[in-house]
Amino acid sequence: REAFDVQAVRRDFPILSQQVNGKPLVYLDNGASAQKPTAVLDAMDRYYREMHSNVHRGAHTLGDRATAAFEGARETVRNFLNAHSTREIIWTKGTTEAINLVANGLAPRLKAGDEILVSHMEHHANIVPWQMIAERTGAKVVPIQVTPQGELDPDSFNSLLNDRTRILAITHVSNVLGTVNPVADMVCQARARGIITLLDGAQAVPHFRPDVQALDCDFYVFSSHKLFGPTGIGVLYGKAALLEDMPPYQGGGEMIERVSFERTTWNVLPYKFEAGTPAIAEAVGLGAAIDYLNRLDREAMEAAENALLERAHQLVETVPGMSIIGTAQHKVPVMSFKIEGLHPSDIGTLLDQQGIAIRTGHHCAMPLMDFYGVPGTARASFAFYNTLDEVNQLFTALQKVQRLFA
Ligand code: PMP
Repeated sequence: REAFDVQAVRRDFPILSQQVNGKPLVYLDNGASAQKPTAVLDAMDRYYREMHSNVHRGAHTLGDRATAAFEGARETVRNFLNAHSTREIIWTKGTTEAINLVANGLAPRLKAGDEILVSHMEHHANIVPWQMIAERTGAKVVPIQVTPQGELDPDSFNSLLNDRTRILAITHVSNVLGTVNPVADMVCQARARGIITLLDGAQAVPHFRPDVQALDCDFYVFSSHKLFGPTGIGVLYGKAALLEDMPPYQGGGEMIERVSFERTTWNVLPYKFEAGTPAIAEAVGLGAAIDYLNRLDREAMEAAENALLERAHQLVETVPGMSIIGTAQHKVPVMSFKIEGLHPSDIGTLLDQQGIAIRTGHHCAMPLMDFYGVPGTARASFAFYNTLDEVNQLFTALQKVQRLFA
């Protein structure tokens, strides 16, 4: 197998080669947001310099160029997810808006007593929109339990599936634990009962390519900014038949076919769900991020990421009192941890002084923090541009922090 040249890849990410607090930046907060390669910065710059105009207006050359770039990016996303058609690719502001859109769109199908199955390891973005819809409809949000290792408990899932279950909305990969959930099996079981399925792919897509046709989920959502693309844009994949059946989320320009004071009709998919001028440059940037990723050797990249996680797990015993939260069999390189006697936010601050960026806190997953009985965790989340040496530096810094303060 071809070696993965991490140093070459790092040169594609200009932000990485800087000093922070007098130390070379070690960026291990990729789960919160990933950095952008020059290819993305250039694509957005070029878009604004050479082709910006509003899209789908068709009256002049710049408009045609902008539309081609914008719709080209949609096709790139379709191919990335292996979706059947670009009609099934809806631009949103991000994962959060995509889930809110689906929750609102499914609300007319819900009635009192219906159940929406989520899990105890969801991000708030995949809990709160369902709670809001439950409030409106009388439906109930029910969580699948998590095991101490940080996997979804299959017994809990099986026992909660019942005739009232209407929706299964779960995360593909946990942002706190790194667990890759067995979503294909779960979707399969849910579909056999006619349950609508949504997968939150926010933390999955930075590490591997999902195939929505193989997964057979009804909805798949993710954010561009975690996939090395710009902020402000994300994707909702939905099966066309369901999207056709759902009411629009917001009203305005672009999403209509015809407007009159007597009767307004909706545009075709995907535009029915894209009210207003879209985030055009951001779509172009996301397309460029995916094109960039497509040029890398996926297999080598995933092997390199696994090596980072393995090294990190091996080094845990070199820091007295340190333990990992989330020891699932199948993980992406995300490591939540605690160190006895140290508050997570102190760990974060002390690491920052050494140029190392991690995330601390509840990670928008308070129910999961409650399950583990912690106020928060410290989390190092790796990307393919991180190096084994950076993992070593993290642990050298943690050893120092532990010696000084624990
Ligand atoms: N779901 C998961 C699993 C996430 O990790 C995140 C981001 N932390 C979100 C949803 C929300 O994504 P965004 O804030 O980009 O909408």
